[in-house]
Amino acid sequence: MQVHVIRSECCGNAQCVEIAPDVFQLDSRNKAVVLDAEAADRGTLIEAAEACPCQAILVEDDEGEQVFP
Ligand code: SF4
Repeated sequence: MQVHVIRSECCGNAQCVEIAPDVFQLDSRNKAVVLDAEAADRGTLIEAAEACPCQAILVEDDEGEQVFP
């Protein structure tokens, strides 16, 4: 799975970090960065993306097909 954070949309409330702390981290500017997209299963990645209040997380499968949103 591949995960992208649209940093211009990220409002830094860390919902993604709470759900998948091995995948996401906030940087010094309070924006999420992806540490390791493989550190959580597909369901957890989608759950994190759905929980993002700013629709800042895109999830793709290994073929690059968009899974969420
Ligand atoms: S949940 Fe969304 S807005 Fe919040 S830190 Fe993660 S990417 Fe940014």
